[in-house]
Amino acid sequence: MPGTMRAYDPSEIEPKWADRWEAEGLYRASEDPDDPRPRFYALDMFSYPSGDLHMGHAEAFSGGDAVARFAAMRGHNVLHPIGWDAFGLPAENAAIRRGMHPKEWTYANIEQQARSFRRMGMSFDWTRRINTCDPEYYKWTQWFFLRLFERGLAYRKNAPANWCPKDATVLANEQVINGACERCGTPVVRRDLTQWFFKITDYAQRLLDDTDLLVEWPERVLTMQRNWIGRSEGASVTFEIAETGDKVEVFTTRPDTLWGVTFFVFAVEHPLVMRLAEAGGTASEAQGLLEALRSTPLTNREQAESREGVRLGVHAINPVNGEKVPVFVAPYVLMEYGTGAVMGVPAHDQRDFEFARHQGLPIRVVVQPEGEARDPESMSGAYDHEGVMVNSGPFDGVRSPESISKVIEWLEEQGKGRQAVTYRLRDWLISRQRYWGAPIPIVHCPEHGEVAVPDEQLPVLLPDDVDFRPGGESPLARHEGFVDTVCPICEAPARRDTDTMDTFVDSSWYYFRYCSPRDETEPFDPEAVERWMPADQYVGGVEHAILHLLYSRFFTKVLYDMGLIGFTEPMLRLMNQGQVIFGGASMSKSKGNIVEPMPLVERWGADTMRLAILFAGPFEDDIDWKTIAPDADRRPGVTSWLGRVYAAVSEAAQREAADPDTLRRVTHRTIRGVTGDMQRFRFNVAISKMQVLTNEMRAALEAGGGAREAATTLALLLAPLAPFIAEELWREVLGNEASVHTSSWPAFDEELAREERVTLVVQVDGKVRDRLEVEADAGEDDCRDLALASEKVKRSIDGREVRQVIVRPPRLVNVVTAR
Ligand SMILES: [Zn+2]
Ligand SMILES: [Zn+2]
Repeated sequence: MPGTMRAYDPSEIEPKWADRWEAEGLYRASEDPDDPRPRFYALDMFSYPSGDLHMGHAEAFSGGDAVARFAAMRGHNVLHPIGWDAFGLPAENAAIRRGMHPKEWTYANIEQQARSFRRMGMSFDWTRRINTCDPEYYKWTQWFFLRLFERGLAYRKNAPANWCPKDATVLANEQVINGACERCGTPVVRRDLTQWFFKITDYAQRLLDDTDLLVEWPERVLTMQRNWIGRSEGASVTFEIAETGDKVEVFTTRPDTLWGVTFFVFAVEHPLVMRLAEAGGTASEAQGLLEALRSTPLTNREQAESREGVRLGVHAINPVNGEKVPVFVAPYVLMEYGTGAVMGVPAHDQRDFEFARHQGLPIRVVVQPEGEARDPESMSGAYDHEGVMVNSGPFDGVRSPESISKVIEWLEEQGKGRQAVTYRLRDWLISRQRYWGAPIPIVHCPEHGEVAVPDEQLPVLLPDDVDFRPGGESPLARHEGFVDTVCPICEAPARRDTDTMDTFVDSSWYYFRYCSPRDETEPFDPEAVERWMPADQYVGGVEHAILHLLYSRFFTKVLYDMGLIGFTEPMLRLMNQGQVIFGGASMSKSKGNIVEPMPLVERWGADTMRLAILFAGPFEDDIDWKTIAPDADRRPGVTSWLGRVYAAVSEAAQREAADPDTLRRVTHRTIRGVTGDMQRFRFNVAISKMQVLTNEMRAALEAGGGAREAATTLALLLAPLAPFIAEELWREVLGNEASVHTSSWPAFDEELAREERVTLVVQVDGKVRDRLEVEADAGEDDCRDLALASEKVKRSIDGREVRQVIVRPPRLVNVVTAR
């Protein structure tokens, strides 16, 4: 009855199934302890509600949803939750621009995004949704703050900070781009403020060591984390100020250059600077430099080319040889790194070299390349490589790298220094002088100082009736009803802390909350967390490779130390999707190349949108939307494929005949291939295999044969990627009762799935040395390994170094040797 067959119409299919899935509670994770299925926690980086969903969301969540659906079909009890990272500056600024209250703006966007996620067919367990700006959530964010405070891991100190005058708040160093605010472009200034920090530096070594446990994280993310932590080994050496007797510690990674010290430098913020300047009679000059630097952003100073500095008029005594060297204060030395004081070794450190040349200071070579003398007069830069120690008293002739450990040993024997380790990682500044965030649950009492708000008084509610426009201090400071309180200890009048917390605090623990999202007595139920965590798969953008993931790892370790959980890393496997760009450039308002996903979903259907994104290339690579759909009038190629799938499955459903043998082989090969592709996030490869299967089905049908097994298989394989059409085909066309999304992933028959064999020719330096039988779908690695394992090939290489292996799978391997 081909005449009665209907055409593929996503606008009819998709809303229907979205409603039915929700009514059937299809994606609810089971907490039944007797549920025999293994659990799988599919976690997506939650969404920031700054507007409707954008293309980045469409991509990340299409991939994350495929992972969750695939796991469910493979027999897992899947937890796939959704929530909103709903506090923070962007929402607040957007609300102010529109003359709205941040709360109103944020919740409106959350509802919009929730509708869009439903329209896209995401398999979320909606009963678990959370918003970090709900008092039921931030009550526990405050509770965590108090636990850190009790443990000495939350503390307040006065520190220089990057201040955006327009946004009127402190910015983290990574929010300052070329000296300007990342959000508004205003040049950032420096401000000294008393602010709250989390002592993440106490965890530096554990955060570093445990990267070894994260074997299923992308290597580049681990490298970024390791660099951010920035461990360096060396020595701590104490210099004495000759005129005042002050002892000053410095850290150096090159103790083998100690004999080359010709000056000594303090950072501008070092507490000794003004006292030493007074002792040396240079107070007014030093004061001038300090004033000039007061407003320079910290990040600019970090990149400073400036070689300026002020001689303090005092001298530091080098402990290794008793020499007295002049002492400076200079902006190129930063208080944030090491101890805020450095020994100047111009011959072997480039920044010291430039400073010495500018200031006319002596340069003394103490390490030189083997048999090659260096003349300080003619050097054009520092020599910072390994070499032989010279002009170094007892160490002349000692070579790197042993020289470093030998000098450290000697320093320890002499009581002049010791082995030491430093980290680049700084404590986490969590204070924000803005309205839209979780209030810090601390009361300042004139007598008792910083006092924790008792747990039973949480949450400290963020008042709605606040003039939240930024104005230099926290907007909460202008709200008397909020500020005025009593000390929990003595009940005398006291003031609430008026800073709010960095939104990264909210997002450091949300994945714990998903395990028991309605818990009113604790942040999470430890048993539920034990059941579900660590998360099996985390999917999200690489822009969070450092901060969010580092902070989440830190929180997890603190919870472990508190005895609340039994594991130390929150996510077993991490996958970063690429960016969606347009015409070779990232999408931006100023370039006018932003493509919004939801209007296209309305026009083309959610399945087309999801498939178009996942088919465009490897999931972790950037994809250029212009190559998929140059304009909204041209549908992506996958749309017509879905039309062909719909037609072929519909036709196959009406045939009685069995599938022909050739089609059966393709079907089972496709199951095998797609199963592996799904496990490795190779969605694009999986889709192309399904396209081949569709073509084979069409050929079988044209030849008058059946294709029902192939049709059933195709509906199942499509389900994680294009959930609507798969469900329509499965239930309506193929007549199954239960949902395709609760059906089992198809198994393949080994015999049927076996590939044809082809001949792989192996050459060594262009000459054919062996011929091997391989499977037609053998990959690059398979072919290389087989070729290099061949005895004939080994004999022909004859122990020479292999320079290059050129592989053209599955037909050719050419081994190039060093001849
Ligand atoms: Zn700004
Ligand atoms: Zn008190």
